[in-house]
Formats: sequence, structure tokens, C-alpha cells
Amino acid sequence: MATSLSKQLHFLLIPLMSQSHIIPLVDFAKLLALHGVNVSMITTPINAKRYKSIVTHAIKSNLKIKLIPLHFPSQEVGLPQGSENLDTLKSLELFKDFFLASEMMQEPLEKLIQDLEPKPSCIISTSPLIWTQQVANKFKIPRYIFQTISCFTLYCSHILNPTKIHDRDSFLIPNIPHKIEFTKGQTLNGNITKQSQDMQSIIDQIKQSQDLARGTLINIFEELEPWYVDSYKKVVNNVFCVGPVSLCNKDIDEMVDRGNKASIDEHICLKWLDSMKPKLVVYACFGSLCQISFLQMKEIGLGLESSNVPFIWIIRGLNFTLEVEKWLMDENFEEKVKGRGMIIRGWAPQVLILSHPSIRGFLTHCGWNSTLEGISCGVPMITFPMFAEQFYNQKFIVNILKIGVRVGVEVSINSWNEEKNGVLVNNDQVKNAINQLMDKGLEGEERRKRAKELAHISKKAIQEEGSSYLNIKLLIEDIMEQLKDKEGEANNNVARTM
Ligand code: UDP
Repeated sequence: MATSLSKQLHFLLIPLMSQSHIIPLVDFAKLLALHGVNVSMITTPINAKRYKSIVTHAIKSNLKIKLIPLHFPSQEVGLPQGSENLDTLKSLELFKDFFLASEMMQEPLEKLIQDLEPKPSCIISTSPLIWTQQVANKFKIPRYIFQTISCFTLYCSHILNPTKIHDRDSFLIPNIPHKIEFTKGQTLNGNITKQSQDMQSIIDQIKQSQDLARGTLINIFEELEPWYVDSYKKVVNNVFCVGPVSLCNKDIDEMVDRGNKASIDEHICLKWLDSMKPKLVVYACFGSLCQISFLQMKEIGLGLESSNVPFIWIIRGLNFTLEVEKWLMDENFEEKVKGRGMIIRGWAPQVLILSHPSIRGFLTHCGWNSTLEGISCGVPMITFPMFAEQFYNQKFIVNILKIGVRVGVEVSINSWNEEKNGVLVNNDQVKNAINQLMDKGLEGEERRKRAKELAHISKKAIQEEGSSYLNIKLLIEDIMEQLKDKEGEANNNVARTM
């Protein structure tokens, strides 16, 4: 399908240095390159190293993808050496310095672009990188924002922004077709009031930069939330729904090679999953940022154990403290669940696991990437939101799509590192939610049926002639149109001066 003009296009992709931004943008780079265009991904040296093998894999498949490392001035702003990804930050307070360091990449990026061949045709960057708009302006190329949250969240935030409704103890989101009730502090707007002035100002700047961008790409598929897509398109220009981008990963190597190196050999992982009966296992994983307190970890572990259901429990590096390790040993935990429970300490090959036929449920923190990966694999979810837009995703999963059950978290924590906050739900709540999800009754069957249908629709969206495939084509055409206009303008200027 690539035309000679589209083959000359060069997309510059710039993600915020966080797993939930880099991972989907790398996936999107592959989808774009499949349309025959050149793609360069700009990131910092440590992140470039983390993602090198993915890009090497893509190049072997003849995709024109490059990874360009750019110095990240972490030490210049006082961050510890190596702080090049949000998952290395020990507290939310450091986000301000992280943000500042990322802004300092503007000048080096401009120098880099001057020497880049072919010349970039556009910039696609994730929403917090507002300074990339100035770079795009300088080189007179369009910038598109890549959103890593759903249209439902974007539209509801848009409605709530100018109001003070979110200051109430509980409230319904007005003017939407679903009855969605939040309590204070559960929405993005509510959370902002708890954050520092610095964070508030960053969030305000992000909102303002939306108006300057040429368009917005969203990692969803239109059929998932049609009313919210239509409504959001009425308030924001040029919306392109291009997901689920994770579905670009087809073979085992690609599914394993996402984010960090997995801390389990994929063959061992697959062998364990193969040994389970179909639709039996619960996969519990809480993303790349949440720091869960020791007491909460204990409650999750006890809930998984007492559910009597086979499970894979991911304990991410920072949560795997000496306290947790000691408790697991004192409890003889792994011995007790032998044959039906597996702990992965560190990074899991999430998409590989979710795609396996033995998976029946996903106990998730409701990050948007994880949510969409669950949807596209047809796996019903147990929702355990903690902060940011995760409560929106819970409402979306449970109340709108009706493919999940709540574990019962009521209050949001302030940030991703909330050691002090203790216990959000106890082990009985974890066990009950798992049992409710496993339920063989009509409700459970309906949930599974809906999840399966959505997975089917999501796969069609990404295939040739599917809605997301066609939206990527429209995006490419949008850029080509602008290039032609620019060329026409330049020719007119030359003619005028002759
Ligand atoms: N992920 C993974 N293995 C892990 C933890 C996370 O592959 O052990 C991936 C997951 O598939 C998703 C991303 O990391 O693509 C996490 O993004 P999400 O938006 O779900 O949550 P966040 O990390 O921002 O809280």
C-alpha cells in the first residue's frame, strides 16, 4: 500500500520516559512502519538500551525503524544517576525535576533534527512532552499527541474540568449516557487538588498544549467506546483512534520483548501455562509504577492463596522488599501453593501470558495499557485501581463494558509510591472478587461472552481495512496533504520573488 510519497515520510516518535508511554509508542512505531514509512524513535540512552532488541527484531522484518538516543540531563537537575525512566523514581516529588530534565532535551533535539535525513515530516509525542510542540513549530512540521488513556477518560475530564463538581463527596458525571458515580479524589480532577502546585502547573500546561497540536492519536479502537469517541471528536480536532497497538506483536519473541527483559524464561512460563486447563488461571499484575505497601502485599497473597484458584502473581522489583521475601518464607507460601501458584519477581511477559488460553481473569491495577491488553486478549478483569486515571478505567471495565468485577478499593492513593497508605483491601475482598469472577453462573458467562466479543472486534480493528488500520492511513494522508501545501506555498514564494 505504500506509495512513493509515503515512503519518503519520516515520523519522529518521542515518548515520555515511562513504560506506559514507551511500550505503546514502540508498538505504534511498528504499525506505522508496516505502512511503509520511516520511523525514528527518540529516547534516552538507558531506555534505548532497554528497547534495542525490539527494534532489532523490527528491522529484521524489513521495517524502517531507528532508535536514536539523546542525552538525559538527570544529574544536571539533581536526580540520581540513571534516573531516566519514571519507574526509577522513588517519589512523586522527583517528577518535577524529571520533567525539567526532559524539557532540557529540547535544544539537543533541535540540533539533531537539523542533521536528520530524511527530514522529519511530523512529531508524535505523548501528552506530557509539551515542549515538543515548540520543536515542531520551529521546523514547521505538525505535532500529534499520542494519548495513552481512553476516550472515556479524556471526555469525562473535559466535562469535569470547568466545574467544581469533583469537590463534592460523591457526584455523577453529567451529560453522558451512562450513570457513572465517583467519590471525591477518584477522578483526575479530584486528585489534582491533592497534588502540589508544581504538579498542578504541569497538568495545566499539558491541557493548554492540546489546542496547539495538529491532532490526537488515541490507543483505543473506535468500536470500543463509540459515544465517547464521537463526543471527544466534537471538542478536539483530528482525532485518530489507532489501537490496540499491542496487537502488532504476533509471535512469541515480540510478545516477550516488551519493556524490560522478562524475569522468567518464556519457555518455562509457557510450559507452566500449558500444564493448566483452559480458562482456569488468574493473572495478577499491578503495572510498572505502583509501590504497594508490605501489608497490602500480604493481603493480596493471602487472598490469592485462599481463593484456591491457580494464579500467576507478579511482584515488581520495588515491591519485592526484604519484608515481603521474609513473609513469603515464614508463611512457606510457595510450598503451600505449589502446583497451582507461581510468583514472578520482577518483569513479566504480560502480553504473552494474557494471550494464553489458560488465563481466565486478570487482577489489574487498571493502567490503561494493561486494561486494553486485557480487553484485546478477551480476559475479564478484577479491578484494583490505585491512582491517576485508574478509577476511570475501573468504571469503564465494570459499568460500561461490563467485563469485570471490583475488588473494592474506595479511595485513591496520592501517587504511585504510597508506602504509608497501608491496606486498601483485605484478603477476603481479594478472594471474594476472584471467586465472583470465576463464577460459572449466568452473570459470569455473560461477562466472558462480552469479553470474547470485544477481543474479536479489537483484532478486526487492527487488521487490514479495520477501523484503526484505516485511521493510520488517514493520518499518513493528513501529513502528506500538509507537506503538499507546504511545498505549494514554497513554490509560490519562489514564483513571487522571480
Ligand atoms: N508490563 C509488562 N510486564 C510487567 C508489568 C507491566 O509487560 O511485569 C507492561 C504492560 O503490559 C503494559 C505496561 O507495562 O504495557 C504498563 O502500563 P500500564 O498503563 O498498564 O500501567 P503503569 O505501568 O503506567 O502503571
